[in-house]
Amino acid sequence: MAKTEKKRLVCIRCGECCVRSTPALHGPDLPLLVDKILELQCLITIREGQPVYDNLAGTARPAPGEFVKIANLGPGAGCVFHAPERKACSVYKNRPLECRAQKCWDEQEMRALMGRDMLRREHILAGQTELLEFIWKHGRRVSWPRLGPSLRAFWEHGETDAQARVIEVLEADVSARRELRERFGKTTGEEMFFLGAPVQEVLRSIGIRVREVGDRMFLRVLARDR
Ligand code: SF4
Repeated sequence: MAKTEKKRLVCIRCGECCVRSTPALHGPDLPLLVDKILELQCLITIREGQPVYDNLAGTARPAPGEFVKIANLGPGAGCVFHAPERKACSVYKNRPLECRAQKCWDEQEMRALMGRDMLRREHILAGQTELLEFIWKHGRRVSWPRLGPSLRAFWEHGETDAQARVIEVLEADVSARRELRERFGKTTGEEMFFLGAPVQEVLRSIGIRVREVGDRMFLRVLARDR
């Protein structure tokens, strides 16, 4: 008879979940922002339609709606609050709801939280009308759901019209990030929270490189060059 593997029922603080992914924030996490335990430069906004990796499903898909999550230190480098040498969390006593629900031996609690009462920028920036209007304007001009068909047309058929549409959006994104710094005095570290990941960075993560020649931009599908 095959030996039955013993099921783990407690957290042994191996830190694997803190390296693999970072938590999205929910309504009950808002006091952590009000009390400045979580600062804006530690957050990243995932905008509706942005291609994201779904950890539970193990596949990439467009985000069904906006949510805000804790940033990581780089691809595969783990949560900004994770201290790998001590296998510790620097905000452990005040860790977000998803971190409390995370049990690598039982996904039930995490699954129940998914998509429920998600914190969005409008909750965190409540009352900051001018800034919110600027954010919504960026969302309309740099819209992932609208960018999707042009990206597919360029990726699949190399259509030059589609390339031009993507570049127009890219330029609008670059210009909005400059305006965020110059008009609102926000730092580069906070930019990922206010406007989400730069379009150029997301394109690179899905295999499209942006080349700048003089003051013009061109796209190149990396997979086609292999
Ligand atoms: S906030 Fe703490 S517990 Fe949560 S993923 Fe980051 S390091 Fe891990």
